[in-house]
Amino acid sequence: MTDALSPEAAPPAGAPRSVTVDELACEGHGRCENAAPEVFALDEDDISRVILDPVPPHLLGKVERAVRLCPRQAVRWADE
Ligand code: SF4
Repeated sequence: MTDALSPEAAPPAGAPRSVTVDELACEGHGRCENAAPEVFALDEDDISRVILDPVPPHLLGKVERAVRLCPRQAVRWADE
């Protein structure tokens, strides 16, 4: 049996992944943009937007750093 939390449900290592930003939680600190400028950009209202989705394998580490650095936990992997 598989479910969303089982190892079988996780994407294979190195596979592209989708990331999301909770715009209601975002306070525009820009840490995500600093960590992964290829993937996040602040809009005119200082809300972070995902500009590259899915995230290609070579940028997964940068995005994982953005997930960890966001003080509002607004950056999340879509598959978690
Ligand atoms: S680090 Fe978090 S709060 Fe700051 S801009 Fe990015 S998503 Fe918004």
